[in-house]
Amino acid sequence: MKIILLGPPGAGKGTQAKTLSGKLNLKHISTGDILRAAIKNNTPLGIEAKRFVESGGLVPDALVTKMVAERISQSDVEDGFILDGFPRNIQQAQSLDSFLKIQADLTVIYLDSSENILIQRLSGRRICQKCQAVFHTQNMPPKKEGTCDSCGGALVQRPDDREETIKNRLLVYREQTSPLIEYYTARKKLIRVDSDKEPEIVISEILKILKKYSATQK
Ligand code: AMP
Repeated sequence: MKIILLGPPGAGKGTQAKTLSGKLNLKHISTGDILRAAIKNNTPLGIEAKRFVESGGLVPDALVTKMVAERISQSDVEDGFILDGFPRNIQQAQSLDSFLKIQADLTVIYLDSSENILIQRLSGRRICQKCQAVFHTQNMPPKKEGTCDSCGGALVQRPDDREETIKNRLLVYREQTSPLIEYYTARKKLIRVDSDKEPEIVISEILKILKKYSATQK
């Protein structure tokens, strides 16, 4: 099974992808995580991508598409994967279509959220510098302020989670990514889930829908 998680920043793509990955035994491929790791390690990709990521814009298609093509050609994702953060525009979706040999097992889960909830989630998000665990100042505070519950690392705000950048990311989403809702609806691949709800409710809805959906595809 190949799953694309589609939705605005803050809709919970990363959180849901991690849980789904464990439950369905599928590898989680997050383009944002790959780019952040490249930036942290100062690789040639990271050096090129840094200014786009930090301003909340999209990294050029050629760079991201090559990165995803390489990742999904690896043997550990032969039987499926969960794509989180890709595609982010029509051109990337067309590239993905061209490198997926089989598309019958592709499902796009659209996490639909209202804008006030997205802003609240993004602005309060804190990430562990060491293990990347995700917390929230109000929704999921750590036991000790500023410290990761799992590894004791320092919790920081992603530079692109600052208020000015959040606005730009939402704008980029509306203009470039949201046309993918229509793109995948026309291809009968899209399933919509209300992602304003608590993550536990969202995941159980996704699993229920996937079960029904795969039964109808047989
Ligand atoms: P995310 O963690 O998915 O919110 O991504 C963080 C940032 O990485 C985005 O704001 C973009 O700058 C960049 N990025 C992630 N995925 C893509 C993509 N598919 N195309 C272009 N830029 C991307």
